[in-house]
Amino acid sequence: MNDFKYGQPASLEQAAAFLARGSANAFLMGGGTDLLGEIKDGIVKPEVVIDLRTIPGLAYIKKDKDALAIGALTTLADIASDPMIAGEYRVLHEAANAAASPQLRNMGTVGGNLCQRPRCWYYRNAETLCNKKGGTQCFAEKGRNKYHAILAGGLCYAVNPSDLAPALIALDAKAVIASAKGDRTVPLAEFYTPPIVNVRKENVLGPGDIIREVRIPLAKPGDKSAYVKFTERGGWDFAVASAAVKASMSGSSMASVRIVCGGVATVPWRLKAAEDTLKGARPTEAAAKQAAAKALAGAQPLAENGYKVDILKAVVAQAVAALGK
Ligand SMILES: Cc1cc2nc3c(=O)[nH]c(=O)nc-3n(C[C@H](O)[C@H](O)[C@H](O)COP(=O)(O)OP(=O)(O)OC[C@H]3O[C@@H](n4cnc5c(N)ncnc54)[C@H](O)[C@@H]3O)c2cc1C
Repeated sequence: MNDFKYGQPASLEQAAAFLARGSANAFLMGGGTDLLGEIKDGIVKPEVVIDLRTIPGLAYIKKDKDALAIGALTTLADIASDPMIAGEYRVLHEAANAAASPQLRNMGTVGGNLCQRPRCWYYRNAETLCNKKGGTQCFAEKGRNKYHAILAGGLCYAVNPSDLAPALIALDAKAVIASAKGDRTVPLAEFYTPPIVNVRKENVLGPGDIIREVRIPLAKPGDKSAYVKFTERGGWDFAVASAAVKASMSGSSMASVRIVCGGVATVPWRLKAAEDTLKGARPTEAAAKQAAAKALAGAQPLAENGYKVDILKAVVAQAVAALGK
């Protein structure tokens, strides 16, 4: 493990001002469950690690007049066990409970979970210089690609690994991003960027940006949501495919519905064609399976991951059907 300096900022403003100077190769750390692994494996070599946990007041779950606000340092365990989230934002409750293991949920933060790096085995191997690490090819495209993207790959096929991201996008959440220039708010639906924008990174954050808070519109009567995740192992595993669904119900039909898939594309993938088909329908497994099949007709699996298409259809169908239960 390379030596690095350890920064303990007293405020987000201090951390953002340090980053804005750009004088060191500095990395932010929330719980460290992803970053420290990357450092140990030689994937990233920071000169400075800025530990956000020394900043007071960044871990909270609270309602204000127009949103449920979750501080960037709130742990996945706190989200998973919050009774109000369990009652009003079921998709987030289920996604937080489905992520990683109890130990990782105790350490992992919402900011870190949203910004965690992909799990592609070529990216995570220090000796493989892929596009994402400044190389000139994606080794997964013609190599071992069982867990890779089946939708919209290209320069890179590493899937977005976060369970919280599809759930929060289904809920139309926004990220409040702090920087030396002040705060700005970005819908999480626009937060993730495909490889064509910049294959070296996965989101809109610039070098001086720090997620301060996530804001979720207040739940309305008639809102229903659910998260279904398929993993190869029973637990402590990333999604082969997952589906986060949120609908506004009108009686027993869906007046509108959002379907966001995880584990199948380089970004959390909104299944808009299925959303359009299901508008006004009852949330049944059969209707959702048909809508998902239509929406996924253009999926382009690689040599080893065609099986993910059927799994994705199944998790979408199960998540939609869960709204009716
Ligand atoms: C074995 C294993 C299994 C896992 N399984 C799952 C799973 O099933 N589902 C899942 O969703 N996740 C899974 N994870 C990932 C785990 O949930 C994440 O490691 C964790 O959520 C990241 O949170 P952290 O606070 O520890 O992030 P860190 O390691 O501290 O940071 C991760 C990245 O985010 C950046 N970052 C952190 N905070 C901020 C911020 N506020 N603003 C901007 N950038 C920031 C860091 O610079 C770093 O690049 C797994 C991890 C492991 C090791």
